[in-house]
Amino acid sequence: MLKRVLIANRGEIALRIQRACRLLGIESVQIHSQADRAAPYVRTADHALCIGPAQASESYLHARRIVEAARLMEADAIHPGYGFLSENASFADAVEEAGLVFVGPSGDAIRTMGDKIAAKAAMKAAGVPCVPGGEGAIDDEAQALRLAEAVGYPVILKAAGGGGGRGMRVVRAPADMSEALATTREEAARAFGNPAVYLEKFLQAPRHVEIQVLADEHGNAVWLGDRDCSLQRRHQKVVEEAPAPGIDRALVADIGERCAAACRAMAYRGAGTFEFLYEDGRFYFIEMNTRVQVEHPVTECVTGIDIVAWQLRIAGGERLSFAQGDVRPVGHAIECRINAEDGFTFVPGPGRIERWHVPGGPGIRVDTHVESGYVVPPNYDSMIGKIIASGSSRQEAIARMRAALDEAVVDGIAVNLPLHREIMADDGFAEGGVGIHYLEHWLERRRHGG
Ligand code: ADP
Repeated sequence: MLKRVLIANRGEIALRIQRACRLLGIESVQIHSQADRAAPYVRTADHALCIGPAQASESYLHARRIVEAARLMEADAIHPGYGFLSENASFADAVEEAGLVFVGPSGDAIRTMGDKIAAKAAMKAAGVPCVPGGEGAIDDEAQALRLAEAVGYPVILKAAGGGGGRGMRVVRAPADMSEALATTREEAARAFGNPAVYLEKFLQAPRHVEIQVLADEHGNAVWLGDRDCSLQRRHQKVVEEAPAPGIDRALVADIGERCAAACRAMAYRGAGTFEFLYEDGRFYFIEMNTRVQVEHPVTECVTGIDIVAWQLRIAGGERLSFAQGDVRPVGHAIECRINAEDGFTFVPGPGRIERWHVPGGPGIRVDTHVESGYVVPPNYDSMIGKIIASGSSRQEAIARMRAALDEAVVDGIAVNLPLHREIMADDGFAEGGVGIHYLEHWLERRRHGG
């Protein structure tokens, strides 16, 4: 069992990790930037240490300083949370080289999954279905044209090292290939330091459905059900839910089993998420996230399994204490991401929160680091919390979410509560199973008063 864990993150996930530490009797060391020194979770941690100025590159992204802080504070492990250094293979290596435990998979596993060509190859080998396309990087235009012809237009060119929805270009006709290939390559080299580009079929109106996994270092791996995260804007998830509505459970189970098998085949360790596009009754792997995700609470709500506590237990060498047959998701859960931004223009609105009232009642969970008087710094991601509603059915979860959103009060800054209230009242959302372009189209119609 770990004794003292350094939390290399901020905001709601820092508090979430702190809570898991407390539950397990592990001491927490909260590092923070100067901008976060007054944050409530800095006060509540067992130990806190300021490691640099507000700028992330000088604090939360400063790998060497973080490892030094862990040594200085005599932590035995580092939990990276999500974002920042959580999927940085060299950081994971540096942590292990310093004799500390990285709460996550090995640097090599992160490296493989961070290269989308390698990740796809690994998934294919493990029997996980992928989007039809080439096996490796594109060498030249002629090859790209041949491949595109084989899978059928439209196709999408993607940077192997891409992330955050960048480094992708849709090609609708052969005449556009040459320029698209050159631009994507150039962008890939510049933004990700890796010019490798691959090609796959562009799915027209898929859903985003993902599988949560947990794997220990003793060869055990389980999948914890699925999540639907199709409500997105600019590839940023806005609302997530578990399970994905209207998908044949036998099909989900087949995919879930394959994901767990892939973990065993890779000797994967920790929590992870296999992301898929789902269209016309089929799943297509797009990428794996080798860390805890923002939307993990919906899975916790329907399975009763504490994912963050298990990350820590697995990092401490424990075996999973349950088998696949013990994972039985019950009911439905929905998460709304609360952002400090205008809900419709998406303009960020940092500043002081004058009043913060958190909703409650049956089936409501709020994960947030914010309180009245908290100042949202302008330096980081705009997410200030998550409201999670669960119920015995999807309908009940939606009804509870509506009530919770009505009850929530945030004064002093712009927040996207009005957007969530409208989404929860939308007929298309209520029906379930909308695609990844639904929200953008909906926002477009709304802008034009339609
Ligand atoms: P990133 O690592 O940048 O998030 P992903 O591979 O996860 O990149 O893709 C991000 C998003 O791009 C997906 O959620 C989906 O909306 C879109 N996308 C990616 N590949 C395809 C595809 N083959 N067909 C249609 N849309 C795609």
